Amino acid sequence: MKFVLVSLLLVAAVAAERFYYEGYKVYDMYPSSIEEVDFLHELMLTDDNLDFWEEPNRMGGKVTVMVAPEHQSTFVGAVQAENLIMSIRHEDLGEHVKQFWEDYDTRRSQRAPGILIDFDDFNTLEEIEEWMYSLESSECAAQGLFCEVRNIGSTYEGRDILSLRLVSEYGVDSTVTRLVDTYDWYFVPVFNPDGYKYTHDNARYWRKNRSPVSSTCYGVDLNRNHDYNWGEEGVSHSPCSDLYCGESGASELETQAVQDEITRVNGLSGIQVLMTFHSYGNMWMHPWGNTINFNGVTCERADDHDDMYSLAVVTADAIQATHNTRWSRGTSCEVIYETTGGTDDWAKGVEGVKYTICPELRGNDFVVLPSQIALSFQEIWNGLVAQEAELNVRQN
Ligand SMILES: [Zn+2]
Repeated sequence: MKFVLVSLLLVAAVAAERFYYEGYKVYDMYPSSIEEVDFLHELMLTDDNLDFWEEPNRMGGKVTVMVAPEHQSTFVGAVQAENLIMSIRHEDLGEHVKQFWEDYDTRRSQRAPGILIDFDDFNTLEEIEEWMYSLESSECAAQGLFCEVRNIGSTYEGRDILSLRLVSEYGVDSTVTRLVDTYDWYFVPVFNPDGYKYTHDNARYWRKNRSPVSSTCYGVDLNRNHDYNWGEEGVSHSPCSDLYCGESGASELETQAVQDEITRVNGLSGIQVLMTFHSYGNMWMHPWGNTINFNGVTCERADDHDDMYSLAVVTADAIQATHNTRWSRGTSCEVIYETTGGTDDWAKGVEGVKYTICPELRGNDFVVLPSQIALSFQEIWNGLVAQEAELNVRQN
């Protein structure tokens, strides 16, 4: 048994080589007409060599794309042919990534021994898992809470997907007490453990899971893979695309695990609110992602759209008020662009959860400074408190 473990560790050590994005450029573009937005959207869905950080938005604004050195001249040529306004955000992303790892390694070498997790820094998958188990075994009880860790499924590479259930009877802070007394809370800190680990060991900007999807490419965009309106809009069917939606709805183990867990918990007493947190972009979004009849023009709105939207307004306003930021709110189709196969759409469309929300946390890069973590927590916390207060009013 020991030999098996050792060989697995060796394989992992060989595979874990940091990718530095040397010579990669990041471009900002400012489409000034619907035609230019459509051009970029088409490019996003058809050109697997482009990684869009910020998607073309029919409401205008900035579009950001990361391009590898060998594809830059083709890309720039195509954009210039359309006379699009463009600027370069990162002349060499490699410098930015190198700096990130240097700072990260320095901070980690200074981390006090015995600390399981650092809430002001990024933690590894192993640290998050160890922390969750320690909550279950001792930390929660010390706070008068009851915590339970559950393995809700496996990833392609065989890792556990862990969910934490938090229940309490009383607490010190009255707001926290009310929130925990009124609801059972379930957390899945890492939906995509293989991809998360890959962003720590290999490529910091990796987005998808890690299942091999063609002879040369890996990964399905799990937020395009859910089994509701699967594969219809704003997705790519090309395995090498960052927006690849998979071979079929819920083809991926991670998607299946999360869907099954949502179904299970919803069957216990009904899920009141489901939030699927993403990064980045200061957006508080809710269903639907699709357009009417998938016509690509008019965004579909649910029958209870006003309920969802007004709750999003209350929540986003409280977030904004915390650190004076700006947050878009509304259906994901209207706020960004049409997409299908997202977690929020699936949970509402299939499981009938009334409030399903997809927040895109603060930032203007997938790699954010650790100094943003506490600020992000503070504003989201205020948003959640306001959201719960509003729901409370509606239920009484
Ligand atoms: Zn997202």
